[in-house]
Amino acid sequence: MERTNVRLHTHFTDFVKPSQVVPDLAAKDRVAAVEELLDVLVKEKLLTNKKPVLTRIIDRENLETTAIGMGVALPHARVDTGGEIAIAVGRSEKGIDFEAPDGQKVHLVILVVWNPELPGLFNHLFAGLARFLIKPANRQRLFQAKDRAELYAVLSEIELRFYEGDKIIHRASVLRKLQELEIKRRKARKEQQKEIQKHAAMLREELDTALISRFDKLMERYGFAVAEVVEGVCQGCNINLSTQMHSAIEGSNDIYVCENCGKFLVSPAKKKKK
Ligand SMILES: [Zn+2]
Repeated sequence: MERTNVRLHTHFTDFVKPSQVVPDLAAKDRVAAVEELLDVLVKEKLLTNKKPVLTRIIDRENLETTAIGMGVALPHARVDTGGEIAIAVGRSEKGIDFEAPDGQKVHLVILVVWNPELPGLFNHLFAGLARFLIKPANRQRLFQAKDRAELYAVLSEIELRFYEGDKIIHRASVLRKLQELEIKRRKARKEQQKEIQKHAAMLREELDTALISRFDKLMERYGFAVAEVVEGVCQGCNINLSTQMHSAIEGSNDIYVCENCGKFLVSPAKKKKK
């Protein structure tokens, strides 16, 4: 079970003070952007061990970009900082290349460092952010806010809620990548296994424990856990999904569960635009 104290927080800005928001990032690339935001956390006394955290975040970034598309990236690491969570937000007018899946430059960087004891907190935060940022009007207001105060005012509208209903918001690409690594690990030679396992562990930490245990059971039983939906049919069991579920999944990065075979349903992977 997730720790219950996080339920007391209802807004994104419960975790972020105005001084943790940088309206005009000086950084021109993603490593510099992450470093600039980590410096903010150090200054705010939310972080002391900057260097290992930077390494950790960049390792994670190299494994799979944390850009979610639409001009937003969420670099993150699960590291014990003494507190529960440390967040810094940076905006870049020119945009920074995060190798986003949609090829767009990133104008809003939300850096999150959270305590390993709080696995559920990040998902909670992530779901709330994704729900807010999916709306173009909200992104425009964040990208165009004239100063720190205005930017903070928009950020304070972001509400955090636990998952509702039958979907897991914006985590399909992470689950897909985890499956890819697990399949690779099974085929790999012994000396390569450790490295793959290390990468897989990084992704496992980001996902809910209930989801992970279901994932492992499915992998064990079928050799795969994530099924794509092609033309409304679950590729895990060849059964037609309801029209409603099919249209919800199409083109989305959310995870659903097949009512027939119990596998995780995702939209087919998009080809990277160059
Ligand atoms: Zn199925």
